[in-house]
Amino acid sequence: MSKIRSMRQWMELLKNENHLIEINKKVDLRYELSAVGKKADGKYALQFKNVFYNGREFKIPVVTNLLNTRQLIEKAIGAIPGHLLEYFSHAQSNPMEPKIIDKNDAPVKEIINLDPNLYDLPIPIHHEKDGGQYITAGILIAKNPKTKVRNISIHRLQVLDRNKLGILILPRHLFHFFDIAEKEKQPLEVAVAIGVDPVLLLASQALAALDFDEFGIAGRLYGEPLEIVRAETVDIEVPAQAEIVLEGAILPGIREPEGPFGEYPKYYGPKSPKPVLELKAITMRSDPIYHTIIPANKEHLLLGAVPREANMLQLIRNSVPNTVAVSLSEGGVCRYHAIISIDKKNEGEAKNAIFAAFSSSHEIKHAIVVDKDIDVFNMEEVEWAIATRCQASKDIFIIPNALGNKLDPSSHNGISDKMGIDATVPLVDAASEKYEKIKIPGEEHIKLEDYI
Ligand code: MN
Repeated sequence: MSKIRSMRQWMELLKNENHLIEINKKVDLRYELSAVGKKADGKYALQFKNVFYNGREFKIPVVTNLLNTRQLIEKAIGAIPGHLLEYFSHAQSNPMEPKIIDKNDAPVKEIINLDPNLYDLPIPIHHEKDGGQYITAGILIAKNPKTKVRNISIHRLQVLDRNKLGILILPRHLFHFFDIAEKEKQPLEVAVAIGVDPVLLLASQALAALDFDEFGIAGRLYGEPLEIVRAETVDIEVPAQAEIVLEGAILPGIREPEGPFGEYPKYYGPKSPKPVLELKAITMRSDPIYHTIIPANKEHLLLGAVPREANMLQLIRNSVPNTVAVSLSEGGVCRYHAIISIDKKNEGEAKNAIFAAFSSSHEIKHAIVVDKDIDVFNMEEVEWAIATRCQASKDIFIIPNALGNKLDPSSHNGISDKMGIDATVPLVDAASEKYEKIKIPGEEHIKLEDYI
């Protein structure tokens, strides 16, 4: 179970393990912060204590790279090492209702500002062609206008004015809610919580059905209900431990230009007319910390990977029970390349595993199946399996023109080919000496330090 209940508690833990570096040097929110964060990607979480933008200095520090590795994610959610995905799936299958607490007990209510000004927050510009300052680590909370069931999701939010954000809403749950509201010419009330703990960030990324409250996943991972508190100006409940909460509504019948924005596939998402979120209030702690996720950094990729992998593992095991492990590789931007290892018992299982992988997410483009001796997180081993256990004419198959991801520039507006690669040893050959891996007797006991 996770012991983490707030972002600052997680930062404290990282600091004690020398994984969080505090930076006192003055850093420009325009590009510089993002560039430093990129250099530390996969190595350190960073807390920038002195940031400025357009000559203006901010008292609020900025933190980034909070979840650099899968090991850190395991630690954050308190999973048994190696069982992160099962742990996440279990929480998703057994959600725990959040609990509403009193406003006086909620740190995020220490400051209540009914005249919100986004320019008071240290919001970075991350990439060269970005349309402006972008909020990237806010979990957006909304309710289905028909059923009133909550939904949690992360959206890129471009600062358009002191109280206005442009929002990209891909066709998932929030899109559906806004569509219902807009057809009735009604605003859709929302809140955006910035600076939440890693458990909540992960829960927000679950691939869940419509009318599934993602807050319940966080509760199960904590082993106790997530504490939420009523917003000031909208009918929404927000995490009580958040650093900052924006309250407002997505306006019906209004579109304004948003973008371009450097996205996770390491290309820009284009500029186009998007809905507008108008703010009514900002509440925050008395000493808030602002969290930014640098697009395409490991934090961004891994937050997307883990819930997708959990869903994929469950689906593949339904059809191939002897599936050992799955991964969405970082080179495949944790979306497009699925690696699956199986303890093959029947010929043909590799292809069934590939079908199941494709059905788990429309974003998966290339799926590779390997034997259980291959580490799905070690791409050199995976490549070795492809190089030595695969013959293209019988082991590779291509499905043209399926639905893929629009942000993949090689797709035709999202229409994409899919490829499956069976890199498992044929069962008839498994015992033959031509597939016997070379071995040096005693190698496992040798320590290089004893010899140099
Ligand atoms: Mn949802």
